[in-house]
Amino acid sequence: MSNLNNAELFYDLSYSKLEAVLATWNQPSFRAHQIWQGVYQKLWHTPEQFTMLPKTLREKLFSFFSFSSLTANRVVTSPDQETIKTLFILPDDYAIEAVLMKYEQRRTLCISTQAGCAMGCVFCATGQMGFKRHLSAGEIVEQVLYYARMLKLEDEKVTNIVLMGMGEPFHNYDATLKAIDLLNDANGFGLGARRFTISTVGLVPMIRKFADEERQINLAISLHATTNEERTSLLPINKKYSIEQVLEACRYYVTKTNRRITFEWALIAGKNDSEATAKHLAHLLHGMLCHVNVIPLNPTSQSIYQPSSKEQTRLFQQTLEKAGIPCTIRLRRGIEIQAGCGQLATRY
Ligand code: SAH
Ligand code: SF4
Repeated sequence: MSNLNNAELFYDLSYSKLEAVLATWNQPSFRAHQIWQGVYQKLWHTPEQFTMLPKTLREKLFSFFSFSSLTANRVVTSPDQETIKTLFILPDDYAIEAVLMKYEQRRTLCISTQAGCAMGCVFCATGQMGFKRHLSAGEIVEQVLYYARMLKLEDEKVTNIVLMGMGEPFHNYDATLKAIDLLNDANGFGLGARRFTISTVGLVPMIRKFADEERQINLAISLHATTNEERTSLLPINKKYSIEQVLEACRYYVTKTNRRITFEWALIAGKNDSEATAKHLAHLLHGMLCHVNVIPLNPTSQSIYQPSSKEQTRLFQQTLEKAGIPCTIRLRRGIEIQAGCGQLATRY
């Protein structure tokens, strides 16, 4: 039986909700476990795959629930085959993106939490497109299952997930955390909490809320500037939550969780890449359990900004390290396939 267009997405269900639904269908409770394992461990998504279910139950399951809400519209692979980006179309025709990055033993997914983004960061393709809508937990989960199925064909697994695709995860807090919980479930997909990283533009109340939950999930903060004037010119949300407030919330997070926090820094030529800025940053972060990820800016058609040179990037890193702040340079792998945040969807 084919999916009904308005059927509820299966991946929006929690396990207990599935159990409740099956109970109303007068099914024995072991069916929930079988279906859950089929979906999240065996990665099945068509009725024919669920051979252990009676045919009537299979049909009912697939008529009540949709197992596919995303249509892969374009798949772009980098020349070295190590980065695979997919443009997905949602049922209401909005576009989102997700990227698989293969690096040594790691199979890292970068997934989206919203179609578009309301934060309007000036260097970000997604920000320039504006906010379309939140994704549901199931729509976030399905991006992962799509790639997990692809990797399974090569006997490989997703090892890490970063919520750094389109959208601001903390603007869609509940769905984001629900998606992580679904993927973390040891009876299902079973990816450890420490394998996830949430990246936020710095929504202070949500950083504090997240800290209070004392989870094992990694947190990254997009800082990009050391003064409020500079940061507001790049990240308009800084008008609402200043650098001081963001860093105070970060210190609170570290105290609460004892976890190292990451600061993201997109290096923009002549804007935030000077030695003096690096020194100022080291001063601001002094004493915090943290490290800095610098990423040369990925230029977009909408913005005038350009990436820093290799030399300037090295200098920035060395200045931070000398001042005692660990700093890694992340290469923007996949630039050649528009794997920067929101770049494919903008073209769609
Ligand atoms: N909204 C969240 C997560 C998605 S953006 C956030 O802003 O943190 C993920 C990361 O990509 C952020 O650090 C963001 O600042 C960065 N980013 C966006 N556009 C970029 C670009 N053109 N070049 C380099 N980094 C970019
Ligand atoms: Fe949104 Fe993050 Fe892009 Fe800013 S950088 S517009 S918060 S996705």
